[in-house]
Amino acid sequence: MATEAIADDQLERPACWCCGEAFDEHDLSRLGSHPEVGVCAGCAQWLYRRARASAEAGTRTPGSSVRRGIAAARPRVIRAGLQDWPVLGALLRRLDKHLP
Ligand SMILES: [Zn+2]
Repeated sequence: MATEAIADDQLERPACWCCGEAFDEHDLSRLGSHPEVGVCAGCAQWLYRRARASAEAGTRTPGSSVRRGIAAARPRVIRAGLQDWPVLGALLRRLDKHLP
């Protein structure tokens, strides 16, 4: 019984502290001062976008304007469900991986 519990614990995959999904350990990024906290690549990208938007608040460069426009469009696309469309959705998801 105790052996089975240990085996189950070893099989349990760590969860992302942001979205809660389970990942393999090598797919999580750990925080330097708090290594118990790990986030997946998707959540790390989301955090990066939020941090940059916060840092660029009030700036008016061409790059920050484009990024603000993309950030404003992203929730509208998701609300409309376009990411689930057969061809367009795959294109949008692929494009989003390369957008700032
Ligand atoms: Zn996550």
